[in-house]
Amino acid sequence: MTGRKRLHIRGTVQGVGFRPFVYRLATQLELTGHVLNISGGVIAEIEGSESALQAFIKRLRAEAPPLSSIEHVEIQDQPLRGDTAFAVHESVAAAEAFAMVPPDVGTCEECWSDFTDASNRRYLYPFTNCTNCGPRYSIIQDIPYDRPKTTMKVFPMCADCQREYDNPGDRRFHAQPNACPVCGPQLSEPLSEIRRRLHAGEILAIKGLGGFHLACDATNDSAVRRLRERKRRSDKAFALMARDLESIAKIAVISETDCRVLQSPRRPIVLLPRRAAAPIPAAVAPGNNTLGVMLPYTPLHYLLFGDSREADPEFLALVMTSGNLAEEPIVSRNQEAPRLNTLADHFVLHNRDIQTRVDDSVLRTFEGRERLIRRSRGYAPQPVELGREIHELLAVGGELKNTLCLTKGTYAILSQHIGDLENLETLTFFEETLDHMKRFFRVHPRAVAYDLHPGYLSTRFALEMPEIEKIGVQHHHGHIASCMAENFVHEKVIGVAFDGTGYGSDGKIWGGEFLVCDYAGFERHAHFKYVPLAGGDAAIRHPWRTALGYLHEAFGNQIPDLFPSIPESAVRLVRAAIEKRINTVDTSSCGRLFDAVSAIAGVRRDVNYEGQAAIELEMKCAEGIEDEYPFEIEAGEIDTRPLIRAVVGDVVARAPVERIAAKFHNTIAAIILDVCLRIRASEHLNRVALSGGTFQNVRLLSRSVALLRGAGFEVLLHAAVPANDGGLALGQAVIANQQLSAKM
Ligand code: ZN
Ligand code: ZN
Ligand code: FE
Repeated sequence: MTGRKRLHIRGTVQGVGFRPFVYRLATQLELTGHVLNISGGVIAEIEGSESALQAFIKRLRAEAPPLSSIEHVEIQDQPLRGDTAFAVHESVAAAEAFAMVPPDVGTCEECWSDFTDASNRRYLYPFTNCTNCGPRYSIIQDIPYDRPKTTMKVFPMCADCQREYDNPGDRRFHAQPNACPVCGPQLSEPLSEIRRRLHAGEILAIKGLGGFHLACDATNDSAVRRLRERKRRSDKAFALMARDLESIAKIAVISETDCRVLQSPRRPIVLLPRRAAAPIPAAVAPGNNTLGVMLPYTPLHYLLFGDSREADPEFLALVMTSGNLAEEPIVSRNQEAPRLNTLADHFVLHNRDIQTRVDDSVLRTFEGRERLIRRSRGYAPQPVELGREIHELLAVGGELKNTLCLTKGTYAILSQHIGDLENLETLTFFEETLDHMKRFFRVHPRAVAYDLHPGYLSTRFALEMPEIEKIGVQHHHGHIASCMAENFVHEKVIGVAFDGTGYGSDGKIWGGEFLVCDYAGFERHAHFKYVPLAGGDAAIRHPWRTALGYLHEAFGNQIPDLFPSIPESAVRLVRAAIEKRINTVDTSSCGRLFDAVSAIAGVRRDVNYEGQAAIELEMKCAEGIEDEYPFEIEAGEIDTRPLIRAVVGDVVARAPVERIAAKFHNTIAAIILDVCLRIRASEHLNRVALSGGTFQNVRLLSRSVALLRGAGFEVLLHAAVPANDGGLALGQAVIANQQLSAKM
């Protein structure tokens, strides 16, 4: 019995080695026919014995390439055609068709074997790649994704590489960045010399996949301190890279999920609990008991740890932090490398241009799933599936941790991490990214969604766009809609949006908000009672100033003297400003409440990076504390004065800070439950969406989730999209889509 079948395979099946896989599978099973890419999928026609056809269908899903994901396979019987071989057909690019632009992919096992095998022609070649791995988004200049439209176009393939490229049975069939030491990109200096410098404690600026890293030996205290000094003394944690899981296990505690995620082809930085005895100096992550660690994702990275795969790595871990000046985007071009002169002792360059800058992605795992914190390399620009058609739109995101979002079909395409839109360099990066993405994905937005904050550069950019409808979206509504969208929820939910800063509909600074909302709109059901913040941004950098606002509310003129180390005159000035409401803003921000308590408890009075006071307070939490501080809720206002008074009481009574921190976290979780119960009683809603940067706090997140589930709530959390402002653009897009639909 012979037959012929036509399989229409949909999902992520382009640019991921799917056609060669189909070719190999079909020829192994002695099937004839062909395979080709079409818009939105792959068509495979297979002809042969019934048993081989069935085996093909079964193995198609079971053995699909690691980067692919099959969403749907439609199978039709076809008349026999009597093909004599199996062929791979060229793709036809339809002008307006949606083409996937694949994200960059971490080096695969087979390539690692290739460049560490002394008999292989790619031995020690730091740009080895294949269909299953290598640069993609970072080198693509235009679509369809083909070598002449990448920065690899300047490297004509040698005969050996071309043969691999043309052979459907080869792992490098149509691997666009295919290269070897004869024909491909080159490093500016020998690997042994790079390792010698790292051993000597030098700080190197190393050009990688999506930009420069600043690298040094992570176990070398003085090197790490020097790097920290040079990076303007910010205490923000440095990311680490280790060669293998064995190395990581020596410095951090890894769960099964963490292992899987660390090894995934996306190779993100994973936040892990640090081992107390880890031989990693405190200066890597001051005040933080987690470490951000990743595995190598390019051959160059592997080779930094030594030539041999079998021998122990030469370094337990390397610091690999983004090569940028404070607040500026990552540097990616050879000619821009001098910008890092003050940071690096030495430069390691290569001659493959980076078309699109992509920072490393950062995530943590929670309840067995990835929870993105920074969605960038390996993830962007892979679309987020929305499960339904949506208008073509642009959403410009917020200000901090900016990403933008374009929509097409059922997809939301979020950009890589762009950064804090506070300077010209970052704005330029934003504009470049928008240009690229519009071209790659052929999106013609009919509206632009933006944050209501009039001062955001993203907002100003949107408002200045010519001839396009403009839709303003309230910040916290955007957060909750983002969480709803990635969970495929369209019905009304209780939205808990906690973060540092977001412009409210009343012109005040919101950030501790309980909304009842869907995409069409929101009602603000409860929020933290407004507290005066003296000096806006100055307060954010100096939590003791924020604390004075809370103390003023709680104690009036009888503020206890909690900050003996701060000059009395400075305290008096801030207090006077608060009393007379000079240069103050009212805020309901939960992030500021964390800052205030962190300062009052003596954990952090000044910060040098965003979120530091709250992070260090979380890190202090003792285990096994179940008490809470008191709070009051009246007419939708959460009064934190009783809480502040009780915290001060504990501080004065010299209660351990670990206990104060834990009690405070418990209190915030209790407030969430209390308010959600009240809203459920009046609105009959049982779904709660948690969003906003504050929910990156695992202590708060896990306790809130447990309390809410315990009370029978269904809880929606972020996973694919960050809870922080990096996920805002998605929410803006779905809200704007709803408004457009309502008008039609
Ligand atoms: Zn490979
Ligand atoms: Zn070659
Ligand atoms: Fe926010």
